[in-house]
Amino acid sequence: MGVGVTEKGAILLGRHFTVDGPAERLVRVVTHAHSDHMVGLGFSVRRSAFVAATPTTHRFLEVLGQGVPPGKRLELPYDKPVEFDGEVLVLKPARHIAGSAQVLVETRDGSYGYTGDFKMPGTPPMKGLDVLVVDATYGSPRLERRWGEWDAISALMEIIEREKRRGPVWIYGYNGKLQEIIVELRRRGLKDDIFTDAQTLALARIAAEFYGEPLGNVRLLSHDAEWGIIMVHYSRFSEYRRRPGAHVLLTGWELSAPARKSGGNVYRVSFSDHASFSEIIEYIDEARPGRVVIDAVRSKTAHLTAKYVERRLGIPAQAMP
Ligand SMILES: [Zn+2]
Repeated sequence: MGVGVTEKGAILLGRHFTVDGPAERLVRVVTHAHSDHMVGLGFSVRRSAFVAATPTTHRFLEVLGQGVPPGKRLELPYDKPVEFDGEVLVLKPARHIAGSAQVLVETRDGSYGYTGDFKMPGTPPMKGLDVLVVDATYGSPRLERRWGEWDAISALMEIIEREKRRGPVWIYGYNGKLQEIIVELRRRGLKDDIFTDAQTLALARIAAEFYGEPLGNVRLLSHDAEWGIIMVHYSRFSEYRRRPGAHVLLTGWELSAPARKSGGNVYRVSFSDHASFSEIIEYIDEARPGRVVIDAVRSKTAHLTAKYVERRLGIPAQAMP
């Protein structure tokens, strides 16, 4: 049917494209620079003729040490079609992290698309495709959040304003999310200096360009930081958690409230960069494809989502693989 999902998480579209996983195809596409979508990039650099991504994603890959050699690098801005042997590839905007894209492939036999990771609103649904592959991270009604992103950012802003008077505020998040949060905090008027590690800073500079927003004063974290707002990768939490100050984890898996204190000086703020379950359904309902495939490699509840789509929307759906 022109679409497949392999055990390694490669989304196969048409005859020539493999997205976000390795396969013997002419073109590898990377929807965004998160590790579960960069799987097998080395293989693709060796075996595919081109690795396609938005210019921002290519710059992110470089900072993350996964840069694609110039001869194989295909920088595709949003909505710019490129044809390979009768099949047309277009990257469409997706709101997730800076540079994120949805993938559209149009062939003589049919039209196929893959959402990649996305959140709503801000991701225009690809309408009327023959087959749509959906990333359904929160693929069950039990994983529904009952508040919006605004509530979570407001909660974070409140924590920062309160805690910064008492000592340093450590904020932990994943690549892409941290950079988006810096931009959001600036939009809300936070003027304080922000301290980060070198990689987070390099990504933040690229993201600020992407969002068209000044980064403000963001500086390199020194070893003995004792004051200020410090933003570092999630994996550094165990290293810094004993330091004085408030420690804030940005997590998509806090489902009880927008923000919650968990233990003395640790907060969990529910800031997801994925569509909620109802938003996934809303996207599919608007897109109205002929058939839906739910990526079962990146979602544990893909079968449930597929069943729900069939019953509620009347669109044939299946989980793959
Ligand atoms: Zn992602």
